[in-house]
Amino acid sequence: MRLVFIGAPGAGKGTQAAYVRKELDIPHISTGDLIRAKLSDTDALSEQLRSYVEKGELVPDELMIDILQERLKQEDAQNGFLLDGFPRTLAQADALAEITDLDKVINIEVDREAVAKRIANRRVCKCGATYMAQEVPDSVCKVCGETTYQRPDDNYDTVMTRLSVFDEQTSPLIDYYANQGILVNIDGNAPVEEVTKSIMEVFQV
Ligand code: AMP
Repeated sequence: MRLVFIGAPGAGKGTQAAYVRKELDIPHISTGDLIRAKLSDTDALSEQLRSYVEKGELVPDELMIDILQERLKQEDAQNGFLLDGFPRTLAQADALAEITDLDKVINIEVDREAVAKRIANRRVCKCGATYMAQEVPDSVCKVCGETTYQRPDDNYDTVMTRLSVFDEQTSPLIDYYANQGILVNIDGNAPVEEVTKSIMEVFQV
C-alpha cells in the first residue's frame, strides 16, 4: 500500500500515521521528521534547512525531493509506505509520480480553530511520537522514554505562516489527487479514535 496523508499542520497526520503504519505494516515516512533529524547536524545543509523550518516556510522543492527520493530507496519502503508531509507542492507531486504510483491519498480535514488549539497543546519526541501536553505531564515519551518537548515551529506566528503556506501551496493537491480518483476526504474534527476508524474503513475493501 502506497499512501499519502494530506492535511494542514495540526490536522492529526502524525497521530493517525502512528496507528495506520502498525495496522498496514508499512513505514511511516514523515518529511518533517527527516528534516528535524538533519537539523542536529552542523553542516551547511542543516543551516539552510533550519532557516526555512524556523520561519514556517517550505524547504525548496529540489532539496526536498532529493531527501525523499533517498528515503524511498531504503529497503523498508520497497513494499509500501505512508508519506506524511510530502508532497506539499504540485512540483513535489509531479516528482513523486515519476518515482512511484500511489494507491490512496487521505485528506484529513480540520477546522482552523481546532488546529490552532491542537498545535499549542502538542508535544513531540524525537522518536516521532506525538502527544497532547496532558498525556505526558512528566515530559517522558511513552514509546522510548526520552524527553518530550514543544516544537520551536509550533509557536503562534509560525503556525499562522504554516497555515497560509498550506492554503497557498499544498491545498491545490486536493484537486490534483481528486482528479486522479485516489483522494479520500476524512473528517479530522472527530475524536482521534473515530478518525482512525474512518481511515481504516478506507482499506476494508
Ligand atoms: P511537518 O513536521 O510536516 O509540519 O514539517 C515541518 C517543516 O518541515 C515544515 O514547516 C517545512 O519547513 C519542512 N517540510 C516538511 N516537509 C516538507 C515538504 N514536503 N516540502 C517542503 N518543506 C517541508
